[in-house]
Amino acid sequence: MSPGAETVFVGTIITLDPERPRAGALLVRDGRVAAVGDEASVLAGAGSDAARVELGGRALLPGFVEAHGHPTDSALVLSRYMVDIRPVTIDTAEGVMDAIRAGVADRPDGAYFNGWDALLQKGLGEPTIQQLDRIAPNTPLVIAHNSGHVAYFNTAAARAAGIDKHSKDPVGSRWVKDDAGELTGKGFEIGTLFALLRPMLATAQAELPSLLADYLASLNAVGITTVSDMSWDHAKTPLLNAVRERGVTTRMRLYEMSAPGSRASVDLENGDDLIKQVGVKTWADGSPWVGNILLSFPYLDTPATREVGIPTGSTGSANYSREQLDAIVDQYFPHGWQLACHAHGDRAIDMVLDCWEAMLERSPRDDHRLRLEHVGTMTPEQFRRAAGLGVTASFLIDHVYYWGDTLIDDLFGFQHGAAWANARAAIDAGMRISLHNDGTVTPAEPLRNLAVAITRTSRTGRVLNRDEGITLDEALRAQTLDAAWQLQADDIVGSLEVGKYADLVVLSADPYSVAPANLPSLTVDATYLAGEQVYQRVATEV
Ligand SMILES: [Zn+2]
Repeated sequence: MSPGAETVFVGTIITLDPERPRAGALLVRDGRVAAVGDEASVLAGAGSDAARVELGGRALLPGFVEAHGHPTDSALVLSRYMVDIRPVTIDTAEGVMDAIRAGVADRPDGAYFNGWDALLQKGLGEPTIQQLDRIAPNTPLVIAHNSGHVAYFNTAAARAAGIDKHSKDPVGSRWVKDDAGELTGKGFEIGTLFALLRPMLATAQAELPSLLADYLASLNAVGITTVSDMSWDHAKTPLLNAVRERGVTTRMRLYEMSAPGSRASVDLENGDDLIKQVGVKTWADGSPWVGNILLSFPYLDTPATREVGIPTGSTGSANYSREQLDAIVDQYFPHGWQLACHAHGDRAIDMVLDCWEAMLERSPRDDHRLRLEHVGTMTPEQFRRAAGLGVTASFLIDHVYYWGDTLIDDLFGFQHGAAWANARAAIDAGMRISLHNDGTVTPAEPLRNLAVAITRTSRTGRVLNRDEGITLDEALRAQTLDAAWQLQADDIVGSLEVGKYADLVVLSADPYSVAPANLPSLTVDATYLAGEQVYQRVATEV
């Protein structure tokens, strides 16, 4: 949009501004909301050559905010450099194994796969290094678990990445070894995965800016205009600079991965309204699907838990001790950084809350927006305690949709499984929350997030504790304004108010006009970043 250019949107406008939830017209000037209100008053303030967009039966909302994404990793993982075997792509164990054999045959220099999930792709079990060596005797073979919390690999992959039984565990991660001290072809946590992917990254490097630009465009296509990067690494700064030159279509808020003994790589004041590092990310525990979340109750003993190798009676594990967590938070929080901590198990959540409570006594701060990520088993009592400390939570609500049945039948039983990701309890405790899809773990699908948060229905139609559902008002806030608040961007985006950026999404209908279960069937017709159109649905898709 050229300087001074104006556009007026006329029709159904859902602002997310509590003072004026609905409006009939909105004026965009110089990339910002210049007026919002009834049609007559907004038109009175517009120039005579303002472009006019009639919404008709459609609805205009603030662009969606993905409060917990991994765009710089997802851009690579979903590119041609890795084979997509996610459960959202391939249903069966047989299909996964076929894809792996075909991938190894096609890619003799290194075959990299993402998305293994033996709970949904039943029958996969856990591969051993011997099995993977038989499939690929000479080709490096790496398989990332869909959660990102486990990597499987063969001997050639270890050799290519320079890893052997004497290699040190990466920070917060662990190479699994057998009784004789040999590598078993399994690594826990993201540090092992990155180490194994290093040879492939060297090849993909030159293409990363265009892969990231494509990925950001794919977020625009589902209405997202701001995304966080929860596994940010300062070494990727040249990548972001290259993408800036092409034109960034989605705002990014970066959370740098913590490391013992480290400091943040940039000053608190950094970046701009488009891209900015706002926080630091730590993983207190791992993934429910691989057994490494820290719980007060045991995993069930079922064929599924046996198949994925979760020991009978296991209550999981944490990635850090309390002492280690205390040391990590003190490297960052006293310097003003926001902290975000991945925690699924209720005991991991207690440990983080204990750590943060003590930290806030040492380094008091009023508006800290400390974030807990995913919080699968967090209890109502824990939400109340967290809210009292000013802690906020971000929910991977799609767990209920894709894994709802497995949570109850295979892993935790009804009491703990059906209560998964209890957004109702968080809001009732007084928290502002967000909904997210977590990079490649589930597809970026904000409209489905709204539906699942309201209906708590799995993809087989099973309802998990309907009374833990939230309202459409609450779900929309969690996907826009309150998500922006968590990213410290609510002063510039997240609602349609005068002075904020015109980050906008046009939906095919008013979301309040359809049954909650049908929200995912709405389409995103157009997306705007600072008044510039960054996505237009093509007519052939209609
Ligand atoms: Zn994540």
